[in-house]
This record gives sequence, structure tokens and C-alpha cells, in this order.
Amino acid sequence: MKILNYINGEFLAPIADRWIDNYDPSKGEVYGQIPNSEKEDVEKAYKAAKEAFPTWSNTTLDERSKILSKIAQLISEKLEDLAVVESRDNGKPLKLAKAVDIPRASSNFQFFANAITQFAAEAHESVGLDAMNFTLRQPIGVVGCISPWNLPLYLFSWKIAPALAAGNCVVAKPSEVTPMTAYLLGEICNEAGLPKGVLNIVHGLGTTTGQAIVEHPNIKAISFTGGTKTGAHIASVAAPMFKKLSLELGGKNPNIIFADCDYENMLRTTVRSSFANQGQICLCGSRIFVEQSIYEQFKTDFIAAVSKLKVGNPFDADTNVGALVSKPHLEKVRSYIENAEAYGGTVLCGGKEVTVEGSENGYYLQPTVIEVKDNSCQLNQEEIFGPIVTIMPFVTEEEVLAMANDVSYGLSATLWTSNLNRTMRMSKQIQAGIVWVNTWLLRDLRTPFGGVKNSGVGREGGFEALRFFTEPKNICIKYD
Ligand code: NAD
Repeated sequence: MKILNYINGEFLAPIADRWIDNYDPSKGEVYGQIPNSEKEDVEKAYKAAKEAFPTWSNTTLDERSKILSKIAQLISEKLEDLAVVESRDNGKPLKLAKAVDIPRASSNFQFFANAITQFAAEAHESVGLDAMNFTLRQPIGVVGCISPWNLPLYLFSWKIAPALAAGNCVVAKPSEVTPMTAYLLGEICNEAGLPKGVLNIVHGLGTTTGQAIVEHPNIKAISFTGGTKTGAHIASVAAPMFKKLSLELGGKNPNIIFADCDYENMLRTTVRSSFANQGQICLCGSRIFVEQSIYEQFKTDFIAAVSKLKVGNPFDADTNVGALVSKPHLEKVRSYIENAEAYGGTVLCGGKEVTVEGSENGYYLQPTVIEVKDNSCQLNQEEIFGPIVTIMPFVTEEEVLAMANDVSYGLSATLWTSNLNRTMRMSKQIQAGIVWVNTWLLRDLRTPFGGVKNSGVGREGGFEALRFFTEPKNICIKYD
């Protein structure tokens, strides 16, 4: 099957007629082709967006909100089909796509359909100066949205929905590894009555299509989610052009477990926070630190629970761990297992490739637990982004806090404790954009989302996203 670019409300082949193979990771087979778009395609998308901007940015909030709600409704109505497509494209268990990815993509549109109606200009009276200030929030114009492969439609919509709600027109690029649901989103937008050119979706490689979006002199803001290295490159291109940038990058998140926690809840959630989506979530708790007094008990129970996880075809109802997204990614993740000793760890369970009956060439790997002795080792410092977690014990709060922060990333952290004083002390000192206490991945869409250090710049979510996708303009009126 060939998918097409979505430009000016139409489905178009790439101008140069170049294509990229698209793989089904559960089978390791090519099952489609996607446009290998170049600068000319991005230019065409930009022109459509530019033309649509004056009308879209002046469309009433009520009308914008209605169209975004309709997109949300259509995503919900097509949940089953979209989930199958997402699962096939990405390798994630179908039940995960059904329960999380697609419902969340719908919620993203619904959330921003509502949020934009509450996002008001601010007024400040300059007391004693007889002046009144109004700070308008105006759309930027044409903005670029670039997203990764791990939560394809979920993260694509997390950018597009606020960009459109705020009155911008968009040139967007999903990951070339998982383009299918983004393609279907184009159809949904037409069905929902989104005017032509307001959203344009251009498929292709990061180094050509993505680069062309970032380099475009008139695309004035880039919202990017992906790897830290790519983010640094994008920043180096965009900064001299003074573009507005939101960068959501990698993570190496600590999961800190104290002996006074609710043990059963912690154990169940830690299995999930380690291996959900094959460990390919930027928020996975990939470094587990356990208080010494319960370390041996935890090790035994955790390994027993992890060993029970079923690795299998994403479409099987009892599959807990599906396929990794691609062969190069499988090889990267496997290299950490093969080099575990040299990288400072000992494999306690998992570590082997899995052959799934009927899908012998798929990219399957056992969930793997590696014990490390020192947080400074490569296994604890580098983002692996696969079904691997490390575990190690700690003795004091100060010691674990220092280890949690001794890493170049700062996306999220999880704390398991029933001590409120410790919760507050540690939450305030952990270097991360998000801290979960006695839970993981609980998301209220109104709250800011993003990281510090090498995990990114800026925040998404709630009004933060609407602030990113608008320019504040202050109007100061003097009166007598
Ligand atoms: P990636 O950086 O390789 O690619 C992300 C996107 O950027 C893709 O669409 C890709 O085509 C594009 N791209 C690549 N090179 C580009 C360039 N030169 N110019 C413009 N665009 C370019 O990342 P990935 O492998 O798709 O995703 C995995 C990474 O994403 C992990 O590091 C993970 O932690 C991170 N991630 C972060 C978050 C977050 O919210 N912080 C969420 C999900 C994933």
C-alpha cells in the first residue's frame, strides 16, 4: 500500500516520485511505501498553509473548537481501525493502542477544542499611571510539528491540536517509521470539515523532509519530539533564524523505591513503567533504585513478575510485550545486552531474542533486567529506549537523590514512599520536569509536560502549549 502526502486538503504523491519502504515490525516485512518528500513538497505544503492562515486565524473560537471536537469524535468512532493500523505500524500490543494511543489522540483534540475557549487575553491596569495594558495572544502563522515513532498518533496530535486551536496553520511530519495513522488523520480532517491547507502532512526522512521544515525561513516555530541528538541539531539550525522552539527529548528516568511504600502497587506499576510499549516510552523508569532493606525481596518478586510477561504478536490478546519498532532499533537495544558486562551490569533475566510462531522475522526481545553496581556506568547513563531496566540498591535518601540527578537527562522521576516529608523534600530536589509519587504516567492534560537538562526545552500541555503556539503582544492604552 502506498500512502500520500496531505497538502491543501488533497492526497498527493511526492513531486520527485521517490518512496521509502514501510515495515511491519511484527513480521519484519515491507508492507507499504511512503513518500520520500523533499524541499519542493515542503514548500508546497508551506504555501497551502500560508494561504489558509488569514482565514483560519480569524475563524471564531467557537468554530475552531467545533471542528477540533469533530476530529476528536471521528478518531473515537474509528478507534478500532486506527488501533489496528497503529499496532501494525509500530509493533505495540493492539490492546495498548486501543486503551491508550488512540483514545489519547482523541482526547488531545477534545482537550484543546475546549482549552482554546478558556485561553483569554490578559489585562493589567498600570495603577497611578492612568494606563491599561492588554496582552493579546496571537497565532504565529505557519508552524512546524515533527514527531517520533513510539506513540505515533498520540504525540502527533499532542502538537497539532494546540497549534490549530491557537489559530496557526501547520506543516507536520510524522516519523517515517510509523506514518500510517498520520495519513489517516488527513482523511479524518477532511471529513471533519477542516478547511483546506490548515493542516498539511508531509511524509519522509528526518534528514530531508524534517530538515526542510526546520530550515524553512518562514516557518517560525518548531515543535519537536524525538531524540536528544536530533533536538540539538534542530536547535543549531533554528537558533540563528530566531525560531521559537519546543524540544521534547530523551529520558533516563529514575524509579526510586523506599521500603515504606505500598509494595504491591509499586511492584505492579514498576513492571508497567519498565516495559510498557516495549520500554519505548520516554517516561519509562529505566533506572530502578531500591532501598537496601527490601532490595533482595524486590529483586526476587520483580524478576518473577517480569518473567511472566508474554512476548508475542501484537495482535494476540494475551501479549504484554510486542515487537520493537525496527531492525536497527532492535540491534541497538540488543547491543546493550551483549555488552552488559563491559557496560557495568549483569543480566538477571531476559536478554534473548524471541521467535514468535508465524512471525519468525519480527523484532522481538525478552524484557530484560540488569543489575548494576554503579550509577555512573554506561547502562545507567545512556538512553536505551527498549525493554531493558537496571536495578541497584541504595542506603540513604541523600545517596539516591544524588544518583537520580547524576545523569544528563531530566524528564521524569517516580518516587514510591508513604512519607510525606520525604515526598516533598525529594520532589523539590529531583532534576526533572515531571515527578510521579506512588503512581506512573497519570496525566492530567492541563498540567505542563516536558523536561530539563538534555531532556528538552519548553513545556507542552494545557495553556503551556497554547502559549508556545502564540506570540504575546502587549497594547498599552493611556487615558486621562
Ligand atoms: P528521532 O530524533 O530519530 O526522530 C524524531 C523525528 O524527527 C522523526 O520524525 C524524524 O524523521 C525527525 N528528524 C530526524 N532528523 C531530523 C532533522 N535533521 N531535522 C528535522 N527532523 C528530523 O527520534 P525517534 O527515534 O523517532 O524517537 C525516539 C526518541 O524520542 C527517544 O529519544 C525518546 O526519548 C524521544 N521521545 C521523547 C518524548 C518526550 O516527550 N520528551 C516523547 C517520545 C519520544
